[in-house]
Amino acid sequence: MENVDLIINARWLVPVDQANQVLEHHSVVINDGRIVDLIPQQQATEKYHAALSHDFEQHCVMPGLINSHTHSPMSLFRGLADDLPLMTWLNEHIWPAEKRFVSDAFVEAGSELAIAEMLRGGTTCFNDMYFFPEATARVAEQSGIRACIGMIVIDFPTNWASSVADYFHKGQQLHDHYRLHPRITTAYAPHAPYTVSDEPLSSLIMNAEELDIPIHMHIHETAGEVSQSVEQFGIRPLERLKDLGLLSPRLNAVHMTQLTEQEIEWCAESGVNVTHCPESNLKLASGFCPVAQLNAQGINVAIGTDGAASNNDLDMFAEMKQTALLAKAVAQDASAVPAHTALEMATINGAKTLGIDDITGSLEIGKAADLIAVDLSNVETQPIYDVVSQLVYATGRDSVTDVWVDGKHLLNNRQLTTLNPAQIIHNSQLWAEKIRQAD
Ligand SMILES: [Zn+2]
Repeated sequence: MENVDLIINARWLVPVDQANQVLEHHSVVINDGRIVDLIPQQQATEKYHAALSHDFEQHCVMPGLINSHTHSPMSLFRGLADDLPLMTWLNEHIWPAEKRFVSDAFVEAGSELAIAEMLRGGTTCFNDMYFFPEATARVAEQSGIRACIGMIVIDFPTNWASSVADYFHKGQQLHDHYRLHPRITTAYAPHAPYTVSDEPLSSLIMNAEELDIPIHMHIHETAGEVSQSVEQFGIRPLERLKDLGLLSPRLNAVHMTQLTEQEIEWCAESGVNVTHCPESNLKLASGFCPVAQLNAQGINVAIGTDGAASNNDLDMFAEMKQTALLAKAVAQDASAVPAHTALEMATINGAKTLGIDDITGSLEIGKAADLIAVDLSNVETQPIYDVVSQLVYATGRDSVTDVWVDGKHLLNNRQLTTLNPAQIIHNSQLWAEKIRQAD
């Protein structure tokens, strides 16, 4: 008998290592935060002695979801200004509110709110872009979630940085601090083609190469962004970025709702990753990412919620369903983005986008124990013909009962173990009071 830390016994196990694989009555064996075995329950009891074990007789155990694009502190702006187009929303509401309120304390409170929501919804890893990223990183570190924290770069000064050089300097400090951290990684996060000029883009491409980290950027979010670039530079944003050398497997191109055949070809050839944010695109009427076409070209497409101010939640189960449904409508093909593809997009594809698919994104021996247990016994998820279909089309995030990251139990029977929800709610209400008075 081999001694191990933890055995999780599951009625169904969906490892997301190959299409549509569903294992029944299997165990995930965990030691030192890593998956050491995936075997039938009977064999697990014969082979391992576990310090702790959990039996999930009516649950599906699967990899934690990866939110490949969000702005976690913006959860404090949830519901502040709805039903507006992107540029009006940004110029008249979000940017003025950010100018007035964004600080280390604001970002800390917003990140706590967002991370609590994400963990309760089965998200074990998120890719963030915001100001005061050191505060988001700090909260992520304390909460036990996995995160890729963006080193934001933008042409104009903000409460966080006074110049482009200052953004780079503070970003570098963040990177250095977390360089060897097991759960916190960093990425360059130039905001968008219309807010970052050529020079900083060229510098960060070189830096990203040197540090071997991803580049996370909003690209082709709206038709307006594209026509503005044509006016200003004579070319569409993606062509400008291509000329600068930005198109590579490091790039996480978020949104991509406006794409020509030629541009899709460039992305396929250069190995660009795309993050699709269906609910944000729908809410801001930004356009539709041609997901089925991107998949057909072999482009890695992940899923993000975007910030809670434009969604208005951080619900990756809902996002998976929207991804599958919207892709069918856009492609006019009901077979576009089947359930398992949507599940891959919300797990392993996100890990690839963040350059951490050797660590997380699927349940495989040697990977980190980043996993969730989903209760399928309720009326909403009965009867069960196809577990993967159930997860994507019928399961709500409140069916997630337990969450582990690196083998640490962060949600135990729906209770957060590292965050204090009462305190988080109280802090959020205090911030909302201040913001409401100023609006
Ligand atoms: Zn965004």
